[in-house]
Amino acid sequence: MDWLLTGDKLREECGLFGIWGHPEAARLVYLGLYALQHRGQESVGIVTSDGERLQAVRGMGHVNEVFTEAVLDRLPGPYAIGHVRYSTAGAVSVNEAQPLSIKCHRGEIAICHNGNFPFADALRAELEREGAIFSSTSDTEVVLHKLARSRQPNLQQAIAEVFRELEGAYSILILTPDSLFVVRDPRGFRPLCLGELGGAYVVASETCAFDLIGATYVRDIAPGEVLVINRQGTHTDHPLPRQTPAFCIFEHVYFGRPDSRIYGRSVNKSRHKMGKQLAREQPVEADIVVPVPDSGVAAAIGYAAQSGISFRFGLVRNHYIGRTFIEPTQSIRNFGVKVKLNPVRDLIEGRRVVLVDDSLVRGTTSRKIIEMIRQAGAQEVHLRISCPPTISPCYYGVDTPSHAELIAANQSTEEIRRFINADSLGYLSQEGLLAACGADEGLQFCMACYTGKYPLPVPLHAAGRSGERASTAGAR
Ligand code: SF4
Repeated sequence: MDWLLTGDKLREECGLFGIWGHPEAARLVYLGLYALQHRGQESVGIVTSDGERLQAVRGMGHVNEVFTEAVLDRLPGPYAIGHVRYSTAGAVSVNEAQPLSIKCHRGEIAICHNGNFPFADALRAELEREGAIFSSTSDTEVVLHKLARSRQPNLQQAIAEVFRELEGAYSILILTPDSLFVVRDPRGFRPLCLGELGGAYVVASETCAFDLIGATYVRDIAPGEVLVINRQGTHTDHPLPRQTPAFCIFEHVYFGRPDSRIYGRSVNKSRHKMGKQLAREQPVEADIVVPVPDSGVAAAIGYAAQSGISFRFGLVRNHYIGRTFIEPTQSIRNFGVKVKLNPVRDLIEGRRVVLVDDSLVRGTTSRKIIEMIRQAGAQEVHLRISCPPTISPCYYGVDTPSHAELIAANQSTEEIRRFINADSLGYLSQEGLLAACGADEGLQFCMACYTGKYPLPVPLHAAGRSGERASTAGAR
């Protein structure tokens, strides 16, 4: 069922939304999470504070399935954080739904996290040996334990201490009854931005969440920044060692909504540039450019604009696939892909098609889509991918198949072309992708899934090699 929803894609990680100082905090978080639903569909949660106590509701499913009018009424207070989740670490159950919350000697603390701590397992084992009891399998709970155990006199200092020790990819919101802490890791792997709404502060993974509630974008939370918001105002600190930034470039390739600004840059603009550059690097004689909807659309428009080939919506996507789906008992050819995508025969028949997609992970879905397009009468099908070959798994908060399952890690472009039965196959170069996403304007990215060069150490056993840590290299 999962593959039906996501296809052959890397999966979104998580989305964060927080607000400080608004009488309708829970409802605004609900709306913010609604805008961020594409970042995680497994579970959702909101924690609010009325200044004295925290209240939490978490559940499995989409934002509008868990939060009804009556449920939101159970979340009083002007301060709130919320989270949509797709698990990249930990199990799939409501115990893992975030924000996680605890009561400890520091009082009540709730936390939500977008990212991953590659070495959380070892830390967790160490804490368990010391007697810690965990209620979830989430790596985020390790942070809570570390915060509770820190001997620092206040939570702000404890946060600085814990994150100096914990290497990883993290954008984090921490809510206590009287403060909101906003933390981004020193490399800035995952996005996080600050906005303003009628005197209230808002924070979100993507700016599309601000647009929905009418908030104004103020700035990105800086890599390594700890922003504290409370009744005294805001206080920003940079207690973590400075590192070379390594913004996840895949946010611009696939995850981010095209109407968002991520790392201060329009996602739509990046994708359009990727498509134009792809047309320069991988030209082909054809009659129409067809995107694999939805995320391939902006790149396909760019490809069409650069090449002069007509853009056509030759594939229609069904947006109404629920989380439960009854499959036919008799096998129907390419059933799964057909539920989600259907070719427009009228546009495709007799045409040479350039099919533009934003990624090719295992190759299985591309093969089925190409077969569908051929069945609809296409004369030729040329697949163009608006990023380089994906050759390495991600350890920084994105769910990727293992090295063995990544087709480009194991086969040449020609072998993949034969497997997917395309007339030609072309990828955007690493340099082309970096330029399209603003590297020439000074942005520095993680490209590890395309280069295998990890900007932060990762466990070697997870990469299918022996030893403890993989060698690392700087971001590009
Ligand atoms: S490895 Fe890829 S998906 Fe993971 S953070 Fe780096 S660019 Fe993003």
